[in-house]
Order: sequence, then C-alpha cells, then structure tokens
Amino acid sequence: MVDDRTSIKRRTTKKVYVGDIGIGGDFPVSVQSMTNTKTQDVKATVNQILALEEAGCDIVRVAVPDMEAAQAISEIKRNIHIPLVADIHFDYRLAIEAIKNGADKVRINPGNIGGVDRIKKVVEAARERNIPIRIGVNSGSLEKDLLEKYGSPCAEALVESALRHVSILEGLDFSDIVISIKSSDVLTTVKAYEMLAKRVDYPFHLGVTEAGTIFSGTVKSAVGLGILLYEGIGDTIRVSLTGDPVEEVRVGKEILKSLNLIESGVNLISCPTCGRCQIDLIGIAREVEKKLAGIKAPIKVAVMGCIVNGPGEAREADIGIAGGSGKVAVFKKGRILKTVPESDAVGVLISEVRSMLDDNLTK
Ligand code: SF4
Repeated sequence: MVDDRTSIKRRTTKKVYVGDIGIGGDFPVSVQSMTNTKTQDVKATVNQILALEEAGCDIVRVAVPDMEAAQAISEIKRNIHIPLVADIHFDYRLAIEAIKNGADKVRINPGNIGGVDRIKKVVEAARERNIPIRIGVNSGSLEKDLLEKYGSPCAEALVESALRHVSILEGLDFSDIVISIKSSDVLTTVKAYEMLAKRVDYPFHLGVTEAGTIFSGTVKSAVGLGILLYEGIGDTIRVSLTGDPVEEVRVGKEILKSLNLIESGVNLISCPTCGRCQIDLIGIAREVEKKLAGIKAPIKVAVMGCIVNGPGEAREADIGIAGGSGKVAVFKKGRILKTVPESDAVGVLISEVRSMLDDNLTK
C-alpha cells in the first residue's frame, strides 16, 4: 500500500472572510505580516505594505494604539491592495473607530475590554460591517487569574483563555471568529493549538510569538508551524521575526511551499556543494535566488554543483544547471539545452526562466 503522507488533509473549519481573502474551509492557507511603522505615519505604513504585497503577503495587520492610528486606516486602505487587520489592546473605542475607518478584521480579546456593554458595541460594529474578530491569546499577556491557576502560561492556560473569549462572542451570537493561541515556546504553541482544535471549529491563525531574530525565528516558526500544518491545523500564518516584515512573508511563503500547501514562486533546489564542485555554486545560487525573488508563477529551478546528483535534479526541475569544470550544462524540461561557460551560467538560467514563463511552460 502506498503511504500517502505527501499531501495534507486540512482540519474542517468554519469559513470567514477578511476582505476578499477567505480563511478556513477549503481556502488556501494565507500568509500575514504586521507593519512595524507608526500606523499614523500613513506614507511609511503604505510603503511598507506595498513591499509586503510585492513579497506575496495576503493580509496585513497594523497596530492601533490610539485614535490617530485608527483614523489613519481609511487613508492607508485607499493606497493598498490587500485586506487590513487592526490590532487593538484594551480600548474598545479604538476597535470601533478602526472598523468605521474600514478595517477588514479586528484583533481584540473581548475579555480584556471591560463590561459587556463595551463588548456589545464592538461586536455590533463588526456585525454591521460583516467583518471577523480575531481572538489573539498570547503567552505574554495571559489573564492574571489563569497564571495563578496554572502557575505558568502553559498550553492548558492558553486554551482556557481562548475558550473564555470565544464564549463571550458566542454569547452575543457572533461566530465570525478566528483564533490564535501563541506562545514563545514552540512545543507549548503546538500543544495549545492541538488541544484547541479538539474543542472548536473556528479557523486558526498560527504563529510562534516573539520567535526571535531572522535566524532563530525562522527555525522556530518553521518547526512549530510545520508540525501543526502537517497535522492539518492552521488556516492563516504569521511568522514573527525581529527584522524587516518582508522577511516574515518570505519565510511564511517558503514554509507553505515546502509543505505543498501553496504553489507559487520559485522552488529553488540547490546542492550544499562538496569537494567535487568545480564552480562557484554558492555565489551562483545566491544570485539566482535574488534575481528570481519577484516571480509569482510556480517554477522549479535546480542549481547543482556537479554531475553526481546534478543532472538528476536538474532534469526534474523546469530549468536547471549542473556544474562541470568551469562550465555548466543547462537543462530545460528534462533535456540538456546547451553547455555554457560558468561566467554565463546565471544570465543563461535567468533568461531561460523568463522565456519559459513567457511561454507559460511551467505546468
Ligand atoms: Fe557535491 Fe555534486 Fe552533490 Fe553538489 S551535486 S553536493 S557538488 S556531489
């Protein structure tokens, strides 16, 4: 019997819409990021969002710490092309103002904003505009009584917190909900989402919070999100990195690509090099990656150091090269196209990729 672990069966969830992007159900897993500009600085925020769009970001979130930020949303929205989420802590008036100004979703924890009257006002504003609310439970801001009960922000505490917020919204007959339940500890994050997946059928926004710098955060996010996505858990993801948010999108896309959850952009296969390599493969691979970064169509490109594994991988790719002594063989759709000097390798590879995309030959 064939062991079919190469495709992922996603968990069945409700669907919600954030602008024109669907989350949950059969919708593809989307990639989110969050701006790190001052939201009220419309120009800087728009420029960053446009760069995120270019990198393939599906949904963007902005911090809303005050009224000026909430009001900036309408101007920001006029200049961007992806749905925008307003991130609010504690002040229900900011949520209402953000919704009035066109936010496509709000992230707010209903249990943290005061009395039921305030919660009702936010829920009514969201209902009126038909936008979802994300409950965003985070290990760093867990309720005091849960910390006392459990002694630490463990998975059980995160789940109990999320369920509390859910029941408040359900009590108001509101079910347009997305949930995140993030810890800075990878295994706690995994356990929390697994536990919550058994309790509710709302779509999940996945993330390992405060994951670290580009290097450590990428590894932690790939491990944590990779485990959950492989289990079919997760409908939208945010990789949290201390760095340029564009990197978050690049890493998020790569995680989804590596699990075959999306087909988009370049899938670069390159060998680690070894003593057999007789070309500057590391330099060539870096340059190819950089030059093909903006491509959205799915294409598999192989950059291989020698004839041991090179021709095999290069043949399987749409376009590939395999190095020899100061020269490379160029493969296209499984056939050797030509042999060129090493110095021409990048130029020839890039122009072949472009002509293949122009001819729409990657499928
Ligand atoms: Fe070494 Fe050749 Fe394999 Fe690259 S493809 S790691 S150069 S054996």
